[in-house]
Amino acid sequence: MRQHRLALCGEHFTEWFISRTQRAIERYGMFGPEDRVLVAVSGGKDSLALWDVLLRLGYDVEGLYINLAIADQQYSEESKARVEQFASERSGADFQIVDVKKTYGKSVLELARERRGREVCSLCGLVKRHIMNRVACERGFAALATGHNLDDEAAVLFQNVLRWQTGYLARQAPVLPSTHPRLARKAKPFFRFYERETAAYALLQGTDYIYEECPHSKGATTILYKELLNRLETRSRGAKQQFYLSFLKTRREEGLFSGPREKLDLGECENCGQPTTAPALCAFCRLWGMS
Ligand code: AMP
Ligand code: ZN
Repeated sequence: MRQHRLALCGEHFTEWFISRTQRAIERYGMFGPEDRVLVAVSGGKDSLALWDVLLRLGYDVEGLYINLAIADQQYSEESKARVEQFASERSGADFQIVDVKKTYGKSVLELARERRGREVCSLCGLVKRHIMNRVACERGFAALATGHNLDDEAAVLFQNVLRWQTGYLARQAPVLPSTHPRLARKAKPFFRFYERETAAYALLQGTDYIYEECPHSKGATTILYKELLNRLETRSRGAKQQFYLSFLKTRREEGLFSGPREKLDLGECENCGQPTTAPALCAFCRLWGMS
């Protein structure tokens, strides 16, 4: 791991990985040993590795799998099978499933077909974020943890910088406190790990995870940004890490993106109660035509 100037064998890598996660959780005040944490698991390497590490560290965690009925259900069935298998191999790995089609009547793909012009990935992101937040709040979890890694965060930062989206740049962070009773605290304990490090951890644990990317994400811009950053990384080791971690440091120390912004007029969605800038219904409830 030239980016960390470190070379480790499997055994010591596992130790390093676990203690580095614990340090991130503590240093950023993500959650404590008494807190109930909801971990969003997709069946991919990052979120299964996160669930594994949090269980090993003794945190009070519960999984949440969202069945989005992707690729005529096949991709989602395979992902769910990985989550079920993981849970069956460990004691205390309880989880809940939310089936989008059964709960709301339509799959994300059906929604996207109805609303031609809206990208499946952006709809899917909106649906996932809403459901994760809803479950975390309704069931009183202290925090919602996701498996986002450094490659994910650097790609999002790249996207936000290319468009100078100062609102997003102000809010992109390893931990987001809850600012409203209907907004869960969000934590990304793996934000300092390169994707290949989370993959290495999952492989070393013998975790069977879904290897393929979501079939709808082919050609997505975030994948292009990841490729560009990887090219940069090959030329200059540590580039990805420096890009994201220096952003966090400079923002903190120099107060970047904290300047005057119009005060957002936050109301509550008439249907679900989540905070929203929209006048009556939040973006999620509008999507389903709820009233
Ligand atoms: P992605 O949006 O696919 O990049 O995934 C980012 C994180 O969101 C993952 O590490 C998981 O923690 C969570 N996540 C993604 N898809 C699902 C899903 N279907 N069910 C539950 N959590 C998910
Ligand atoms: Zn709503």
